[in-house]
Amino acid sequence: MSQILIQSVLLDDERVDILIQENIFQKIAKEKTLSVSDPNSVIIDGSHFAIVPAFYNTHTHAAMTFCRGLSDDVPLKIWLEKYIWPREASLTPEDVYIASRYAILEMIRSGTVFFADMYWFRTETALAARELGIRASIGVTFADLLKKDFEENCQFVEENLADYSGRVQLAIAPHAIYTNSAETLKRCAEISERFLLPYHIHVAETEHEERGSVTPTQGLSPVEFLDSLGVLSERTVAAHLVHVSEKDLQILAKRKATCAHNPCSNMKLSSGTFQMKRFLEHGIRVALGTDGAASNNNLDMREEMKFASLLAKMTSGDPTVLSATDTLKMATRNGAEAFGLNAGVIAEGKLADALLLNLGEPCFATGDVVSNWVYAANSSVIDTVICDGKLLMRHREISDSEEIERDFRNRFSSRS
Ligand SMILES: [Zn+2]
Repeated sequence: MSQILIQSVLLDDERVDILIQENIFQKIAKEKTLSVSDPNSVIIDGSHFAIVPAFYNTHTHAAMTFCRGLSDDVPLKIWLEKYIWPREASLTPEDVYIASRYAILEMIRSGTVFFADMYWFRTETALAARELGIRASIGVTFADLLKKDFEENCQFVEENLADYSGRVQLAIAPHAIYTNSAETLKRCAEISERFLLPYHIHVAETEHEERGSVTPTQGLSPVEFLDSLGVLSERTVAAHLVHVSEKDLQILAKRKATCAHNPCSNMKLSSGTFQMKRFLEHGIRVALGTDGAASNNNLDMREEMKFASLLAKMTSGDPTVLSATDTLKMATRNGAEAFGLNAGVIAEGKLADALLLNLGEPCFATGDVVSNWVYAANSSVIDTVICDGKLLMRHREISDSEEIERDFRNRFSSRS
């Protein structure tokens, strides 16, 4: 049986011992009270560390690390049509595998243990996630306008569902209303409901998105249109939702959909102003995502937290909106819950995912740990990353990292 004992670590404001057994937080008790008898157990002296939940990135396109920094400072439509889609047209499965591994390395270094992906060559991204020990929701991407593979996708889901039942799972991912017909959006919802899989989709990222809809929306907003098709539910994870009306918010709350908020990508593409306070007032679950590295331009969820909180305060004119504690919850527990994971909290019985933060770093010298984690730190303060009861990073070392970086540079870098 695999066991990790973390001794005298700071959890909230208390020093505790934490026993991880297999992939679960088995026992949390007062410090210096727990022990292990198995000589193969890993014992970590936690006295210099705080333990916090790891990050759950609810919207990304991992393999897009290959086009980071290649097409900045242009509007979304031009960005997609002129730069991204032409490059993606010549991508090979091996490209996606190499770029996904590189992305996952960056995620682990910055404390992420789960990512919800939407891209091409899903089996290569899934393989990279399995190999590197991270959790993933691998989107089966539907985009009528770009690729007509509806039946093939459905067949893939039916045939592979059993292989995607553990750490790496599937989601149904219709790309958007401007790439899919109403018929496809509805049939995707049927598959999502039949197999109880998340329905992951871009919604209302840009103003007047409905004007580009494949099926005319007859004057309905993107959210109203999706609701008229009957596809919104508690399984829906809608990325962006930048342009929403009061009626849209009421619909999202009623359907118990989750919003995957991507503050950095939205700001960089100047997509519009996300109305965090209004989402919170409606009780809509908001989680955080980075979007792809081509529009962020990194996969660092700690940065996403800070941007989310500052943006919420600025747009509302209210500094009390989105406290550090609430922001951390958004980046951790809310994301885990949206994808049906019993995780995102350091508590007995939960999946053993966590970060150890180095309290010796200057940003932790004064004040509250969570406040400093959200507002003052950067991801280099993460010493250890634990996912599913396994040590993915210890003292900032990750196995195979040199090989992963070398493969990526050999494939994609124009620099020696
Ligand atoms: Zn996206």
